[in-house]
Amino acid sequence: MQWVERYKRNRWTISRVSGRWAHRFAIFYVIMVAATKKRACFATDHATVVRKIYQVRYLWFKRAKELMATGLWQPGHGITRSSADYTARRCLFCRPSCVFYAHGNSNKLRPCKQSRICPFCYARTVAYIYWNVRQYLNTRRKQADNEIVTCVVQKEYLAAKGFTPETGMVAGMHSPNVRRLRAVIEKHVQRYERQAKTIQRRTDGAMWSVIVEPKRRGWRIETRQYFVARAGTKLPVVRLVDAKTVYTKSAKIQTFVRSGKILGRFVRYPAGMLTAYADLAGIAMQATYGLRLRRGTGRFRTCGSGLAAAFKQASKKNERTKTQENAQAS
Ligand SMILES: [Zn+2]
Repeated sequence: MQWVERYKRNRWTISRVSGRWAHRFAIFYVIMVAATKKRACFATDHATVVRKIYQVRYLWFKRAKELMATGLWQPGHGITRSSADYTARRCLFCRPSCVFYAHGNSNKLRPCKQSRICPFCYARTVAYIYWNVRQYLNTRRKQADNEIVTCVVQKEYLAAKGFTPETGMVAGMHSPNVRRLRAVIEKHVQRYERQAKTIQRRTDGAMWSVIVEPKRRGWRIETRQYFVARAGTKLPVVRLVDAKTVYTKSAKIQTFVRSGKILGRFVRYPAGMLTAYADLAGIAMQATYGLRLRRGTGRFRTCGSGLAAAFKQASKKNERTKTQENAQAS
């Protein structure tokens, strides 16, 4: 570890948990879920939240180290040895999101951006999704439209071949399992692509995502869809033959608490990534490599990692117009 990074690493102490809705939301549905391995836990007091964040950090550090040490997952796919090392360190020490630090947010390691597995980067994306959805619903709410939000979740289970929790994965069975899992995920993607046009036509905004969660003996593959559409619209749910619908809920956009819960189901973190067997988590990462598993149409066209860039650009533009206005005023 280089001294600069050690210095940065030692500097961060969480002083305050963010009170913003988007951050609270991300803490509920990502950090708490990752820490408790269960459904969202709605504790909001500072001590509990900070304790959970440290728990998740420990889980993540352990998991990332295990995956990299066993060669199951290599982040970044760096060309040079030193860049690969640097990416690995960034993952291990990825800083928690949705909190404020004792010494300000400067001087900190950059986020690792492995938002498919890193709970903190996942939480950052979720906070952006919440912002985006809330912004949109706020404008629609004033028009008193008869719009509703809906979340539909379908799940499918794939048992790992040559694997038992007691003895682990049989040697040589990793790549066959990667291929099997990837085939299932690609089937989900194809189904979606076939229907994307219909979704765009019938809804004002929709998001779709595939979440792979390692379980005790295999993987749970969830296809989650979130729609904002007029009441009475026949929702273009991507039907899958082998999948079972496990969640369907709708609410009027005016009822924010419930619609927040519905969005929460859409973005919930797959806690198994941190707690299930490393072999299964590693295979899940390899099987999803290079696939775009979060997509949107209409108002939510940008709904993955692109959101961060979009928000940055928007705030820059705001600043620019503000300074222009100021210049005009003076
Ligand atoms: Zn990260």
